[in-house]
Amino acid sequence: MKGEFEFIGDIRKAFPSPQGITGIGDDCAIIPQQNGWDTLVSTDILVEGTHFLKDDITPYQLGWKAGAVNISDIAAMGGYPTGSFLALALPKKLDSDWENEFLRGYGDISREYGFPLLGGDTTASPDGIGICITVLGKAPHGKSLRRNTAKAGDLICVTGTLGDSAAGLEAILKGLPRSRETEALIGRHYLPRPRLTEGQQLAASPGVHAMMDISDGIGSDLRHIMEESGLGAEVDVRAIPLSEEMTAFCAAFGSDPVRLALEGGEDYELLFTVQPDSEPDLKVPHTVIGTMTKETTLVWKGSDIDYCGYRHF
Ligand code: ADP
Ligand code: MG
Repeated sequence: MKGEFEFIGDIRKAFPSPQGITGIGDDCAIIPQQNGWDTLVSTDILVEGTHFLKDDITPYQLGWKAGAVNISDIAAMGGYPTGSFLALALPKKLDSDWENEFLRGYGDISREYGFPLLGGDTTASPDGIGICITVLGKAPHGKSLRRNTAKAGDLICVTGTLGDSAAGLEAILKGLPRSRETEALIGRHYLPRPRLTEGQQLAASPGVHAMMDISDGIGSDLRHIMEESGLGAEVDVRAIPLSEEMTAFCAAFGSDPVRLALEGGEDYELLFTVQPDSEPDLKVPHTVIGTMTKETTLVWKGSDIDYCGYRHF
């Protein structure tokens, strides 16, 4: 079996984007309209056993999270959501309380972030739950922030703190005792809050060049910006923003906070690059973690480890 990114690379070669459309390779496809706006489209799948364990996550949390991971790709472009489609493969043995609670979670996030459900598909699954969501959004023509537009010398920045979700997952999988810290981290894992308004503000800020959301950890995600932009990066691991809860959790249970922050996925924070003279004027809270370079390598300053990030296969 090919690696995940090699497979996507092969698909991309076989299906080049039609003229004027940005297809495979970014967080969303970008389809220009006649009215001065571009339509944004993204789809993401969640599979029981791969993305979640049914007995650990509540159906409400799963409904919320399924919406969150999708709307995060609209946030990644700096876009405005317009709607969504929900396709479900459900085992016959599921009870209706589960379905109601799942819809309640999806309903809450779709109302809060403004992506009403417009359609979908429902079928039976022989084993395990499958959830596939397509989100639609829009952005003023040509104003979406892409992965391939970083420039050498840009500062690399992230919103929020990294690794909280991965620490929460570790607490769940190892059945660690629940404390205020572990509850907060588990909350970030199950009920992520994508940075939609921050993404929109960044897309409207002068000097911001490239952006994506952090779904697989920056050890993986930053490489996408590097490859798409034909650049390298230097990241100071000592500058990575870590929450108090995560640091306390790692101290208590002997986990490596930097590894969780760089290799753990599902933070749904934003990773973006900005030209140095524009960075002080940014209104969105963020942390500078490094610089885009002309070399095509990724250098972790302050560590000997080559952090990689999550890959599905
Ligand atoms: P993200 O983590 O932002 O959802 P992915 O890493 O899943 O992005 O995908 C990277 C790019 O490859 C996206 O543009 C996505 O649309 C495209 N892609 C992934 N899988 C497929 C597929 N099976 N067919 C076509 N395009 C795909
Ligand atoms: Mg993404």
